Amino acid sequence: MNDLILIVEDEPKLSKLLSNYLHRSGYEPECLENGIDVLPSVRERMPALILLDLMLPGRNGIDICKEIRTFSSVPIIMVTARIEEIDRLIGLELGADDYICKPFSPREVVARVKAVLRRSANQKPAGEASQLHLDEERLLATLYGNELELTVVEFKLLTFLAANPGRIYNRSKLMDQIYPDQRVVSDRTVDSHIKNLRKKISAVSPDTELIQSVYGVGYKFDAQLNVRILKE
Ligand code: CA
Repeated sequence: MNDLILIVEDEPKLSKLLSNYLHRSGYEPECLENGIDVLPSVRERMPALILLDLMLPGRNGIDICKEIRTFSSVPIIMVTARIEEIDRLIGLELGADDYICKPFSPREVVARVKAVLRRSANQKPAGEASQLHLDEERLLATLYGNELELTVVEFKLLTFLAANPGRIYNRSKLMDQIYPDQRVVSDRTVDSHIKNLRKKISAVSPDTELIQSVYGVGYKFDAQLNVRILKE
């Protein structure tokens, strides 16, 4: 297996620290300081994952990420110095797999690297075939060809989240979607539907975390999966 992790970071101290931790965890880290060098290196070395800082000399992380996505689905974790920036980055739908904010603990970064690599290994290569198929007319959801037996509410919730991959929704927004009649339900209702949904998803595909919790905010759909929604 290819264990090459490309660390794109212009603060030498930081990249050295990450490099040491990743090396100790069995990866083969390689550091780049300049944004200009990233694309040639990705094409040539074909890393298993890229840790990509946002502010770089030469070329910024957003442009680099966009261009990589035109030819490669290599997992990308974007690193930013500002927590407020993450929301904007998510909104840009760059196709990054995760976001980390500085200052971070190197341990946390290694854990995220592992998680993203695990997730991408479990996904079938992105091709024409959709991995999650949602048929709104028949209320039929299939994941990797297996039917998920969902309730109407679970189906609505999944379809809404999947229609906007990567976007984070808070609980009240999700409640509006599943109970348009403004019925009074508690935040816990959404959590319990999500919990059941996850249970059904993991019964079909144990390592697929389609719906991710965003701590203190709400939920989002995993942006990597290939989704097809058949409208009513
Ligand atoms: Ca920087």
